[in-house]
Amino acid sequence: MAIAVILLLVYTIDYCGNRRNEVAVTEREFVTGLLEEASVDKHKILKAVYGYDTFREGQEALIDSTLNQKDALGIMPTGAGKSICFQIPALSFDGVSIIISPLISLMKDQVTALVEVGVHAAYINSSLTEGQFRKVMENARLRMYKIIYVAPEHLMTDSFLSLMNALEISMVTVDEAHCISQWGQDFRPGYLKIVDFINMLPKRPVITAYTATATKAVKEDILCILGLRNPTVIVTGYDRKNLYLAVKKPQSKMNELLDYLQKNSDKGGIIYCNTRKAVEEVQEELFRRGYPVTRYHAGLSDLERKENQESFIYDRTPIMVATNAFGMGIDKSNVRFVIHYNMPKDIESYYQEAGRAGRDGEAADCILYYSGQDVRINEFLIDRQKENEELDYNEMQLIRERDRDRLRRMTYYCFTNECLRYGILRYFGEEGNHDCGNCENCLTEFEEIDVAADAIGLISLIRTSGERYGMNAMIDAVHGTSNAKVRQYRLEQNPFFGALKSRTIVRIRQIANHLLVKDYLYLTTDGYPVLKAAAQGIELLQEKNLSEPITMKLPKEQEKVLSKKKDGKRSGSDATHPELFERLRKRRFEIAQKEHKPPYIIFSDKALKEMCSSLPTTEEKMLEVNGVGAIKFEKYGQEFMRIIKEWCLMN
Ligand code: ADP
Ligand code: ZN
Repeated sequence: MAIAVILLLVYTIDYCGNRRNEVAVTEREFVTGLLEEASVDKHKILKAVYGYDTFREGQEALIDSTLNQKDALGIMPTGAGKSICFQIPALSFDGVSIIISPLISLMKDQVTALVEVGVHAAYINSSLTEGQFRKVMENARLRMYKIIYVAPEHLMTDSFLSLMNALEISMVTVDEAHCISQWGQDFRPGYLKIVDFINMLPKRPVITAYTATATKAVKEDILCILGLRNPTVIVTGYDRKNLYLAVKKPQSKMNELLDYLQKNSDKGGIIYCNTRKAVEEVQEELFRRGYPVTRYHAGLSDLERKENQESFIYDRTPIMVATNAFGMGIDKSNVRFVIHYNMPKDIESYYQEAGRAGRDGEAADCILYYSGQDVRINEFLIDRQKENEELDYNEMQLIRERDRDRLRRMTYYCFTNECLRYGILRYFGEEGNHDCGNCENCLTEFEEIDVAADAIGLISLIRTSGERYGMNAMIDAVHGTSNAKVRQYRLEQNPFFGALKSRTIVRIRQIANHLLVKDYLYLTTDGYPVLKAAAQGIELLQEKNLSEPITMKLPKEQEKVLSKKKDGKRSGSDATHPELFERLRKRRFEIAQKEHKPPYIIFSDKALKEMCSSLPTTEEKMLEVNGVGAIKFEKYGQEFMRIIKEWCLMN
């Protein structure tokens, strides 16, 4: 896709008179015309270029500040619409705007989207061939681009600095600005060079920065290190109301996943795994069962990664199984679910990845599958973190300590019975509502039970069997299940075999997990994880009096109102006229195939749904649909109106 974009840009300049070129030039003139007409009117640009009627929270203030040459920092969650905040000023300024971004895929996606709405933009990063790089630099000198995306490692190169001296730079934007902070989850030492870069510019342009990470320390780092001058700081709400949040602790993650996919077979989404091996296993199993699924991880060839990513984005294989290498900057707006097959290392990563669901504002599911093994893998990764040559020993230790703390808080999220949304919002320093009504905990009825007696049964078994076995064997034995392992370890002869036989396996697992979190038990971290009694657990056995209850909130075996969720929150996934929606979607897919573009770049699901409810059959009506701007109308308006008219006649 990247190459296609670059080629299109290069093509435009190389072969004048070519038909394709004519189209491109016409488009460009069209947009230039619109921009001139819109001059600095941000509302007109919003409508003409992006097809939107109103700004979302925070956007207008950030744009105004930038247009008034006042530095700005925007802290907004994934999907909130940060790009528009710097793109609209970039389109309004006379000179060129430089967007610094750490991720190749992010740049590609944004440049593709800009080119699609007729804006000339380019990117400079290591994915360009030498020839492409030269061409982009040449075009840039000819002032062909309004917006140039650049990776931090290119900033201080002679060629880039010399280009900067030859151009008028109107704005420098630092995207993913948290990368500059050691407190952030994604520290990139290369980002520290941005300050030197800005100092090298002949004239300091307005500087703006954007991130989705809102912790206090990161925010302060960005403000201070980047040296923003009296900036406008906007922190918008972190809440994404359309996302349903849930945590599952299934005995078999695969069965849980298959069950979900079977119930949601019309939807596409991402399944994140923490290792390449897990990605391959999950993808193979789903593929074997006939699901349209592809995969992505850093161990695949560049070609396969590119093909698989496109296949997902273009809706050819709507299910993606991937490691966290996938997704940064992937702007696919119709991701209907993000399932974490393993618990990520921190809430920042979790919310960022989960936030890739439902960018179009329609209902989407974010489900995390937890197991104790996930915690251990993350602990292992923290301990084994590569020494960073730019950090000394003490700094490295500090970073590890912070990582461990973040992991603890992530684990806590998996065990809390409070509103999950409240937990996330509070983590980011926001006061939330305790009952969001759209998370698993809010929709589950809990009962408080005292598990002290159960704890004594389990811990007694662990102690008397020599603290040598893993979690599953202990749970099976205390439940009284006689399987191969239990027999092999001779656990049937243990006096506590079957001590909790009146409990279900699921319940015993919940209790064991609770005892782990509350430090009655622990799992060893070197080698095979063995379940042992912690000091508090041993004390419990010694006291043997049950006056101190161990209370635990557990979901009632019967779940409360799954139907509430089904009827209420998920209605967004049903268009007013589903049959028309299917027709529009099908046509969108065909056009996307033909034009080699992701379907959501043509129109979002949300725009299609709006067409289904407002049934526009005139240009005026069509332009009222959110996401239909002048250029989009010019390209696809008639075709979609034709389908709507046809459908209206038939119905
Ligand atoms: P972020 O960078 O904050 O994750 P994006 O800039 O990718 O988010 O925007 C997410 C989605 O929201 C995009 O599809 C974008 O077109 C859309 N969007 C942005 N601003 C608006 C707006 N004012 N009205 C409607 N949709 C918008
Ligand atoms: Zn809730």
